Amino acid sequence: MTMAPDATTYQLIDGKQTAETIKAEIAAEVATIKAAGGKVPHLAAILVGHDGGSETYVRNKVLACERVGFESTLLRYEDDITEAELLAKVEELNQDASIDGFIVQLPLPRHISSEKVLEAVRPEKDVDGFHPMNLGRMVAGLPALLPATPSGIVELLRRYKLPTDGKHCVVIGRSNIVGTPVSILLAKNLEPGNCTVTLCHSRTQNLASITKTADILVAALGRPEFVTADMVKPGAVVIDVGTTRVEDANRKTGWALKGDVKFDEVAPLASYITPVPGGVGPMTIAMLLLNTLKACKGEVYPR
Ligand code: NAP
Repeated sequence: MTMAPDATTYQLIDGKQTAETIKAEIAAEVATIKAAGGKVPHLAAILVGHDGGSETYVRNKVLACERVGFESTLLRYEDDITEAELLAKVEELNQDASIDGFIVQLPLPRHISSEKVLEAVRPEKDVDGFHPMNLGRMVAGLPALLPATPSGIVELLRRYKLPTDGKHCVVIGRSNIVGTPVSILLAKNLEPGNCTVTLCHSRTQNLASITKTADILVAALGRPEFVTADMVKPGAVVIDVGTTRVEDANRKTGWALKGDVKFDEVAPLASYITPVPGGVGPMTIAMLLLNTLKACKGEVYPR
């Protein structure tokens, strides 16, 4: 393989392995709770409709619950459920003392307001960390149930002991579930944290000239292989959040999961890089389980 003169040997950030370690830690704690006769964490998931991606994500979340010893409940509804009916289901889960946390898998059908539904989830049970109360507490530096994907990214940086203090972190994408919260978390006076953060989006001008200055580059825009070698500084840490299904006739499923980073050409330039799949994705589930454990223990909102 021909390498650029300033190319480095990269190390893969193995999100799958790291998530397995976290899940083993959670399973050990659940076993201790069970042995002491305490309450076993219980996660519920609401799935509306039959979107292939959503079905897979929810199935993986339920399986992950079983593997760590949690109880789990999957509630499925057809996509003609009305907004009022769905809000009533959310309220039932809010009131159900046996459920510690629950998620509403997105996207929801167009006739239902995601904002309304997510705001209806009680913050104490909002283990996805999407409720404005949790986001607001995160911004204020108060204990909160943190959004799973951003906290999974921070956890990867922590467990790989990657220096963040004073580093320039460029985030591409400003969604409420990934780009904006990860930019806030990494700018905080925390460890990992203390980055100087630039948050980019579709109106950003001269994007490549900004990403080129990143010590840590987080790509969360949902455009397969958007980040190319000419956008990356040699030695950068590259975190690829993107997960887009693209047609692939060579696979049984007919599709392959693609990240936002052109891995083959960016990896040789990077110092550390997450793969897709096997990078940020598994961490999201691990952090969801961790939030459910925290909710059950009343760690963030004392019961
Ligand atoms: P989103 O809500 O669609 O937001 C995309 C963001 O990217 C927006 O802020 C948009 O800018 C920006 N953007 C789009 N095109 C751009 C361009 N050409 N240049 C610069 N910025 C651009 O997406 P999301 O929900 O954050 O998800 C992003 C990706 O992460 C998706 O592939 C998603 O599947 C994946 N994801 C993965 C996980 C996981 O667990 N691995 C979890 C969540 C999401 P504007 O704001 O200006 O429109």
